[in-house]
Amino acid sequence: MIRITQIKLRPEEGEDLLLSKICKKLKISEKDIESWQITKKSIDARKKEAPVFVYQVDVKTKKQEELFFKHGKGPEIRRVTEARYQFPKDARRTMQHRPVIVGTGPAGLFCGYMLSQAGYGPVLLERGGPVEEREEAVEQFWKTGVLNPECNVQFGEGGAGTFSDGKLNTLIKDPFLRGKKVLELFVSMGAGSEILYDSKPHIGTDVLKQVLKNMRQKIESMGGQFHFHTKATNLEITDGKVSGVYIQDTKAGGITRFIAADVLVLATGHSARDTFQMLYEKRLNMHAKAFAVGLRIEHPQSMIQISQYGEKYGALLPPAPYKVTARASDGRGVYSFCMCPGGYVVNASSEQGMTAVNGMSNHARDGRNSNSAIVVTVSPEDFEDGLSANINPLAGMEFQRRLERNAWRLGNGAVPIQLYGDFKENRKSSGPGEVLPDTKGQNCYTNLRGILPEPLNRAIIEGVDFWGRKILGFDRYDAILSGVESRTSSPVRIERNDQMESSIAGIYPCGEGAGYAGGITSAAVDGIRVAEAIISIK
Ligand SMILES: Cc1cc2nc3c(=O)[nH]c(=O)nc-3n(C[C@H](O)[C@H](O)[C@H](O)COP(=O)(O)OP(=O)(O)OC[C@H]3O[C@@H](n4cnc5c(N)ncnc54)[C@H](O)[C@@H]3O)c2cc1C
Repeated sequence: MIRITQIKLRPEEGEDLLLSKICKKLKISEKDIESWQITKKSIDARKKEAPVFVYQVDVKTKKQEELFFKHGKGPEIRRVTEARYQFPKDARRTMQHRPVIVGTGPAGLFCGYMLSQAGYGPVLLERGGPVEEREEAVEQFWKTGVLNPECNVQFGEGGAGTFSDGKLNTLIKDPFLRGKKVLELFVSMGAGSEILYDSKPHIGTDVLKQVLKNMRQKIESMGGQFHFHTKATNLEITDGKVSGVYIQDTKAGGITRFIAADVLVLATGHSARDTFQMLYEKRLNMHAKAFAVGLRIEHPQSMIQISQYGEKYGALLPPAPYKVTARASDGRGVYSFCMCPGGYVVNASSEQGMTAVNGMSNHARDGRNSNSAIVVTVSPEDFEDGLSANINPLAGMEFQRRLERNAWRLGNGAVPIQLYGDFKENRKSSGPGEVLPDTKGQNCYTNLRGILPEPLNRAIIEGVDFWGRKILGFDRYDAILSGVESRTSSPVRIERNDQMESSIAGIYPCGEGAGYAGGITSAAVDGIRVAEAIISIK
């Protein structure tokens, strides 16, 4: 296989030109090409007056490759061998019972997929509903403000990432190609094949819902079993080993049932606070970890488009993302997180009397605004209420709850919003300027200075003002802020050893909630890693 990099197309040029560009680079004719495929695509907009799409393609030719290289073809052409993810040799682990996976977010689902494919017939427990029901519950919440604490933006089939931008890019190193496997599985379940080569792949909520249904059917067809509206509420531990899990029907309430299990995967996500509490009481080794909190900011997508791609080409290029970072004068890092081009700010709460926000978009990213969370890292030292983090692993979780109660109070249960200029002047907003908020859920103008500790407010102001010099209008008076962005990652890390087992044998902490992932792809990859660990033990 021959890999060619740095093939450039102007925005107005179509991908049908790629073949002729390949032939030109290899100095061969189209009839010598057996097959070719795009393996990377990105936008280079450093020169605003001349942005280009940059491609990497892999080509199979009828001509002898040796011939090529004998004549020297330069740095942009090289030979590659196709590498694929390999699931490790199955040690045929003896289990008395089916493995149980708690949570059907990306971590639980991909772990379930691999264990089903290996013939272990896992049981997947999910406190929320299947995606169809979940969609109704979420729409109902956004319309009426009536929260279902068991089925919402955080809880339900697909986990936290279902109502999201579905961004799949990740910074994790991927020597075993698990990340590539995750993308390939998403494509086989109905996601667009462009996610395999796009430098910033995203699925979008509208497509993700169908992908999840297909994945469920595939896992069931391989012997996996789903139990929705089923919450793990307690564990049975015998001689330091898990022997089962107690479950409760979250829809019908009622009696607690028991499922025997000698392998239990905990893929419960960053928002399962009652489950963290239960695990803490079960003395699972865990500790508080740093995460980031802040406020979400909205700007017109058209403003970001021009700033990133220039007047002339802005309209020809996909909705532009941005990533900004800065250091505040007190040394804290402040940065943009989970940026959603052409997206919405969503009420992503999961507990009564608490308000948390996040961002989402559909595949087309055709919303009028862009939004991102402007966040500041907080560490155990910041969780001030006497719950010193050294002794209480849940101090961060309680810190999040305090911020969310502040937000709920200021918004009176709706998403509290404010104009950036008023935020700077610590003054309540009463209505929009030119930028109209695009919130999924009710919103309410107020003064957000009452949510976060003052040093964090100052860091956010320093950051936004600084970026206003890089992205024109970023610090405009009428940019819209929403609060509070408190669930950027898990406030807890559940310890696990090299075999991925916790301090209680047979329990496998997995994904974002356990503190081993941040985002859809890395959570899915961690699910695959845990499945590998489970089947590798005799
Ligand atoms: C609105 C929003 C937008 C996001 N956008 C993106 C994005 O664009 N790209 C990205 O990479 N990441 C995004 N994220 C983050 C991403 O969703 C998470 O990192 C990822 O889903 C973590 O996967 P997970 O499987 O570890 O946990 P989760 O996805 O949180 O799944 C955990 C599951 O466990 C279930 N559960 C919890 N407790 C129990 C229990 N006791 N019994 C039974 N079930 C239980 C929950 O209901 C949930 O379904 C977003 C998150 C949100 C909330």
